[in-house]
Amino acid sequence: MPAKLIDGKSLAAMVRAEQKDAIESLAARGVRPGLAAVLVGDDPASRVYVRNKARACNETGVRSEVHEFPEQVSESALLECVARLNADPRVHGILVQLPLPRQLDAARVLAAVSPEKDVDGFHAANLGALLQGRPGFVPGTPAGVMRLLEHAGVPLAGRQAVIVGRSTIVGKPLALLLLQKDATVTICHSKTADLAAVTRQADILVAAVGSAKLIGADMVKAGACVVDVGINRLADGTLAGDVDFAAVKETAGWITPVPGGVGPMTVAMLIVNTVRAAELSIGKPLV
Ligand code: NDP
Repeated sequence: MPAKLIDGKSLAAMVRAEQKDAIESLAARGVRPGLAAVLVGDDPASRVYVRNKARACNETGVRSEVHEFPEQVSESALLECVARLNADPRVHGILVQLPLPRQLDAARVLAAVSPEKDVDGFHAANLGALLQGRPGFVPGTPAGVMRLLEHAGVPLAGRQAVIVGRSTIVGKPLALLLLQKDATVTICHSKTADLAAVTRQADILVAAVGSAKLIGADMVKAGACVVDVGINRLADGTLAGDVDFAAVKETAGWITPVPGGVGPMTVAMLIVNTVRAAELSIGKPLV
C-alpha cells in the first residue's frame, strides 16, 4: 500500500500563517522582526537558500537583509559584520549561510553571533540548552522534522527512531528532540556496520546524509515513517533526496518528498525563530 505523503510545503505555509498574530502584537509595540543573512562567496546552492529565506521573510512580514561578501573575505571583516548585526536593534535574527570557504573558521564565526539572535540555533549556548532541555533556539531543520512528525500524527513514544547522519545541524539535534519525545534513538554514520540491518529496525527513519537514493526499499520496515532531509542535485539537474522515493513509498507508512518536504519546513522554522527573537528583544522569555 502506498505511503501517506507528508506535505511539507503546505505545513510550512500554515506555520508561517500562524506567526501573523505574534507579528501584529510586535507591530503594536513598534517592532518588526528582522532577519540578517550573511552570505560569503558564489556557491549557487547557498545563493538559492538565502534567496528562498529572504522571500519567505518578505511574504510573512519579517524584514530581511542580506550581507554579501566575496569568497576571499577575511575572517576579521566577517566578524566585524557579525558584531555590527549583534548591536543593530532592527536585526533580531542573524544567520550565517554555511558552508563558509575553507580559509574561514566557521566555528569562530558562529560563536560570534549573539545567542539571543542565533535563530539558526548553531551557537554552543543554544545547542547546550537543547542538550539540557532548556528553552533556546533549536536549528530549523530538526525543528521542522519534529513539526512534520507531529502534524502527521506519527507516534514517537517508545518507538525506534533511526537517524542516518550525525551532523551538528541535523542528525545530533534531531536525536535530542526525538529523545525528548521518548523515542528510542539510534544515530548511524559513515562507519556504521550494516546500515540496512539498523534502518530496518526503524519505526521512524530519518535520512540526513547527502547521498542520492541511499535508502532503498530493502532498508525500510513496512509501515515506517520515512523522513528525507537530503538534497542532492542529479546529473540531469533535478533534485533528489537520500531516499529512493519511488520504491520506498510502496513500503513505508508515511514519507516526505524532496522537494516539498523538509526544505520548506526549515525555512518556516527559521521565521518562527526570528519572530521569537524579536519577542525576546522586548522581554518575552523563550519557552
Ligand atoms: P554532513 O555532510 O554534515 O553530514 C552527513 C552525515 O552523513 C555524516 O554524519 C556522515 O557520516 C553521514 N554519511 C555519509 N555517508 C554515509 C553513508 N554511506 N552511510 C551512512 N552515513 C553516511 O551533512 P548535513 O547534515 O549538513 O546535510 C545532510 C543532507 O541534508 C545534505 O544533503 C544536505 O543538503 C541536506 N540538508 C537539507 C536541509 C533541508 O532544509 N532540507 C538542511 C540541511 C541539510 P560521518 O559523520 O561518519 O562522516
